[in-house]
Amino acid sequence: MKITFYGGVGEVTGSRHLIDADGTKILMDCGMFQGHRQQAIDKNKTIPFKTSELNHVLLSHAHVDHSGNLPSLTKNGYKGQIFCTASTVELCQVMLMDSAHLQEEDAKFFNKKHPGANIVPLYGQEDAQACLQRFKSFEYQTDIPLGPKASAKFFNAGHVLGSAMIQVDLQTPKGKRRVLFTGDLGRRQTILMDPPHIPEQVDYLLIESTYGDRVHPGIETVEGQLKDYINGIVKTKGKIIIPSFALERTQEIVFVIEKLLREGSIPNIPVYVDSPSAVSISDIFNRHLSDFSFSPEFKAYAQKAGDPFGFKTIKYVRTIDESKSLNDMPGPMVILSASGMCEGGRVLHHLSNNVGKTTTLVLIVGYQAEGTLGRKLSEGAKKVFIHGVETEVNCRVETMHTFSAHADRDDLLWFMKSLNPRPKTIFLVHGDPADRVALKAHLAAEGITQVECPEFGQSFELA
Ligand SMILES: [Zn+2]
Repeated sequence: MKITFYGGVGEVTGSRHLIDADGTKILMDCGMFQGHRQQAIDKNKTIPFKTSELNHVLLSHAHVDHSGNLPSLTKNGYKGQIFCTASTVELCQVMLMDSAHLQEEDAKFFNKKHPGANIVPLYGQEDAQACLQRFKSFEYQTDIPLGPKASAKFFNAGHVLGSAMIQVDLQTPKGKRRVLFTGDLGRRQTILMDPPHIPEQVDYLLIESTYGDRVHPGIETVEGQLKDYINGIVKTKGKIIIPSFALERTQEIVFVIEKLLREGSIPNIPVYVDSPSAVSISDIFNRHLSDFSFSPEFKAYAQKAGDPFGFKTIKYVRTIDESKSLNDMPGPMVILSASGMCEGGRVLHHLSNNVGKTTTLVLIVGYQAEGTLGRKLSEGAKKVFIHGVETEVNCRVETMHTFSAHADRDDLLWFMKSLNPRPKTIFLVHGDPADRVALKAHLAAEGITQVECPEFGQSFELA
């Protein structure tokens, strides 16, 4: 019985962990690596284990850094099923098709610019479609049989719609051993989601460490901050560009803006959601409003008022022409557009048209991996490359950590201290090196010392 870490270790993307239960091979997540372009392409292409030998795949949630490489798996010989929650199935239908489409477009664009390059995407829309056929959903807290030596269960992770912690029970010669992978872990208090479930009797814990060394401002400060930014832009008649993950972050921000409008804290300002995926995902949220993993405030509002993502001044932009027409429209306005780390998608063309203007505010509302355009902007770069063109940055760039869907240091410590009895080993995954090391030190200060920071390809016995 062993576990091997094949991604999301010492970095925040490419989540991929393999359990070998006496020959039954169970993969948890198969995420896309993101960041420095060539490095990410190489890592995404390489599958460091035999896909034909895999027996089961369990998926924590729909974000592409956890799901985005699943089509490569099925394209390269994996014949089994992919288990996740029902909302994750629906969300992946949007996210994986979108990822395939973006890759096809990227390759086309690159080959046109560099004749003879013949770049091929990691996978295309047909591959994504074939992969989606293998998805099978399970409710939270339901047994998922994985053969004679193993079984699994999902629990609410409180991170995004459908997000699950994956619990795997293994029959070892020394008795039962329980592995729990948190996937991305939510916060104790968020705008849309319920807090994470506290599991029992965990022997081996794999926990994310994205914000292992940061404490987020309280969620109650979100409305005030956003109100100030919007009222500021109304005065200067500028544009707020929010690079936003299509899943969850966009819906959270729309929900807060709707509330500010309803309470009269901001004037009627046009809000454009310019991301076809975000539009489809908002529809999925509307179909799952009765899910028990939503926060009480959000559920109460949705039950009373219906569609929480629709109001008079919001416009969901579907076509490219509509998207382009936003360039010529005067401010003030708010544009929410994907991708969240500014690595592709329509947000790039809004950034290229607006970062040179002093009236623009780029509002960073999510984690930006090293090497991404979003990270460069948030770190104050004065010149950036957008679509291969060097572009001057004269606008204001602000970062709001309040929106994070990830547990902060105190949430992570709370979660680990809530586990009774304490796990035999805690593996810190999904975090940049400095954050992992800092979290390990914080744990040591709390007397929790059985902590490992695994490296890529490193295996550990689970018995
Ligand atoms: Zn996530």
